[in-house]
Amino acid sequence: MPDNTLTHTDHTFGFSTEQVHSGHRGDPGHGASITPLYLSAGFVFDDFDHAQARFAGADPGYVYSRINNPTNAAVEQVLAALDHGVGATLVGSGQAAVSTGLLGVLKSGDHVLSAPSIYEGTRALFRGNFRRFGIDVEFVERPNDPDDWHRRVRPNTRLFYGEAIPNPKNDLIDIEAIADAAHANSVPFAIDSTLTTPYLLRPIDFGADIVLHSTSKFLAGHGNSIGGVVVDAGRFDWAAHPDRYPHLHEPIHAGTGDLTTWIDKFGVKANFAFTRAVVAGRLGPSLSPFNAFLLQQGIETLSLRVDRHSRNALALATWLEQQPEVSGVDYPGLQSNPYYPLAQKYLPRGQGSVFAFTLAGGLEAARTFYDAVEVFTRMTHVGDVRSLILHPPTTTHSKLSPAERDQAGIHPGLIRLSVGIEDAEDLIAGLDRAFRVLRGENPPPLRGRGETAAPTQADGL
Ligand code: PLP
Repeated sequence: MPDNTLTHTDHTFGFSTEQVHSGHRGDPGHGASITPLYLSAGFVFDDFDHAQARFAGADPGYVYSRINNPTNAAVEQVLAALDHGVGATLVGSGQAAVSTGLLGVLKSGDHVLSAPSIYEGTRALFRGNFRRFGIDVEFVERPNDPDDWHRRVRPNTRLFYGEAIPNPKNDLIDIEAIADAAHANSVPFAIDSTLTTPYLLRPIDFGADIVLHSTSKFLAGHGNSIGGVVVDAGRFDWAAHPDRYPHLHEPIHAGTGDLTTWIDKFGVKANFAFTRAVVAGRLGPSLSPFNAFLLQQGIETLSLRVDRHSRNALALATWLEQQPEVSGVDYPGLQSNPYYPLAQKYLPRGQGSVFAFTLAGGLEAARTFYDAVEVFTRMTHVGDVRSLILHPPTTTHSKLSPAERDQAGIHPGLIRLSVGIEDAEDLIAGLDRAFRVLRGENPPPLRGRGETAAPTQADGL
């Protein structure tokens, strides 16, 4: 099968070209222009020797879709290219990406340092599941002070962790400073970059070693599928630390007499190979090729969508800041925001589209606003083409204690928006209506959705 993948021998392609062409397999059999959807559990062997060669890796073809699949492989290639990684492993969800990516590195008895503002599902994974596995996750208090990371390092610390754009507060972390602190302590830095996507930020360019994404959000982009990916930078010197990462220094095929280790065979890609084969391959959180196909369709328009998402978000944040009922807007694209300088460094193309604002009127104001808003869809999800609205204090962050919520800045009047790609003026009109209800006015419903009569059977006659 000819390899249609772009090469970089004498030219570096732009992001939008890469997102369309990288990893593209084509369909030599029939001439389809897009990578076909291979919905097949297994792949046929020609004969006895062929089966043996496939299992031995001597024949590079596919064996079984839990391990690899041509549709998934094409998407893995484009994601690795877009994030400047050496390899990517698709898994069934963003949560699976976090657990797979981290369990590739960690074992019972290890200690992890994490930035404090992270997705609540990941916090629950750390506090519950990882604790049961004997992995202790400690949260630093001042993530942008490298000393706070340095002084908490213990002899058993094995990983630093953070999120590129923590939601809902957008309290950005200084990725380069944390990566430097991790490397000074001989541990890798893993980062969940779901809310930036590689279009806004490539954490690997700033020193991150492992990048995780929930592809359910902007990458797939249309709210149609759950997925995740682990991308490896292939740069951390695993070979230098047999005491810290002993699994990579053990034979790949223990008990066979073959003493080749992961480091021997894969070098700087050892962690990528181990995570893929041993963690993803054996725990089995594989992504369905169907979802990989949907994901690929999304990736092809990523830059266009994320540009529009970010422009809309800045317009809405600017408008919200001017509303008298609003006591704060957590969007780092606003010059008034304390994270504006970090956003200028790490997110010059746009500052994303998931942010929160706080209504001074507290819980009751949030309730009235939430029920009165139009155009926005009331849903817990982000990165959808549709604009979404959520009240984190009573939903995603309801399991935190009031003191923890207060400390995280999740006040009762806080509302989270995931700004979509609709027309900004319509989104503002939808929000404006909710403010008018809050002010005791009785605004009519907006024109648009619902006003056009549904077609009746007679219309079709
Ligand atoms: N990471 C971040 C930053 C998220 O926002 C989410 C989900 O909201 C996840 C990980 C988990 O992703 P998924 O829902 O695809 O499991």
